[in-house]
Amino acid sequence: MNALMKAVMFYAPGDLRLMETPIPSAGPGEVVVKIKTALTCGTDFKAYRQGHPVLLAHTPSPFGHEMAGIISEVGAGVNWLREGERVVVLNSAPCDDCFFCEQGITELCENLELLNGAYAEYIRVPPQITRHNVHPLPEHLSFAEAALVEPFACALHAVDKMRLKPSETIAVIGAGNMARLLICALKAAGARVLVIGRNAERLRLATTAGADDVIDLSREPDAVAAVRRRTAGHRGADGVIEAVGKPETWSLSVAMVRKGGRVCLFGGCAAGAKVELETHRIHYNEIALFGVFHHRPSYVRQAIELLGNGAVPTELLIGGRISLEDLVSFFAENRDTNALKAAVIM
Ligand SMILES: [Zn+2]
Ligand SMILES: [Zn+2]
Repeated sequence: MNALMKAVMFYAPGDLRLMETPIPSAGPGEVVVKIKTALTCGTDFKAYRQGHPVLLAHTPSPFGHEMAGIISEVGAGVNWLREGERVVVLNSAPCDDCFFCEQGITELCENLELLNGAYAEYIRVPPQITRHNVHPLPEHLSFAEAALVEPFACALHAVDKMRLKPSETIAVIGAGNMARLLICALKAAGARVLVIGRNAERLRLATTAGADDVIDLSREPDAVAAVRRRTAGHRGADGVIEAVGKPETWSLSVAMVRKGGRVCLFGGCAAGAKVELETHRIHYNEIALFGVFHHRPSYVRQAIELLGNGAVPTELLIGGRISLEDLVSFFAENRDTNALKAAVIM
């Protein structure tokens, strides 16, 4: 029997447990990674509060999905990775074989392989992910910075789908961690960025992250008028990214975009949520609406490159360090807050 490791398992909403479990070994086509740093994520807190039908379908489940570490074992047939290599491990990989993969829309892959288990000392990475989504790190990128690759790749996905023209104005609704990554991705693409929120401290961080202007709804409650005032000809934003995940803000995003503009619905609402939309506005003003979910291996590679070039002020995203032993109480204490990410150091 293998030696034991520590791992935090998800049993049910509000029920995480620190366990001892055997260190996994690598089967054919797989690697085992000794995790050095995992990051907490808003999605994990959401799952902690209400469960997750897709990511945590079978419980008890390994938990956590943003991670980087060192390859500790290489399975048979894996000749493109080696033991001792510093890598980021992604939480999914496409199959390359289904209708959606053939279309290049790999995030919609019918056989998308998912991986949880960042909150552990080791993780076994299944073949599909080993093949597509375990990436060696530039030397100067720390493990904590590298663990930002997953959420940053999602932000790059959203910005790519906006099809930006130079110096267009994009309004971001929401000012949390994800919004900060969206700001970095938008600035890297040459956009002018307006951020809309209601928390002064978060809006200050948005400015530090590169937002050109911020709208504080506690002072300017009419978000649509506030955006119009800040855009040429008072037309409204060229594009809007909704990064909150509430029906009200989905509706708001449609109201503040200019004629012919694009609205990216990035924040996931609760299952079953419905949204009211003004049909005339969408039809006669030719508003394009689209959803964005998850990432693709190409955005992952772009995220590694941009993080390596210092495009993301990572200190604005990672608040503090905790140990794996502290993780269960950390989730209980921060259940309802939207704090900065914590780096879980193994
Ligand atoms: Zn995440
Ligand atoms: Zn596929």
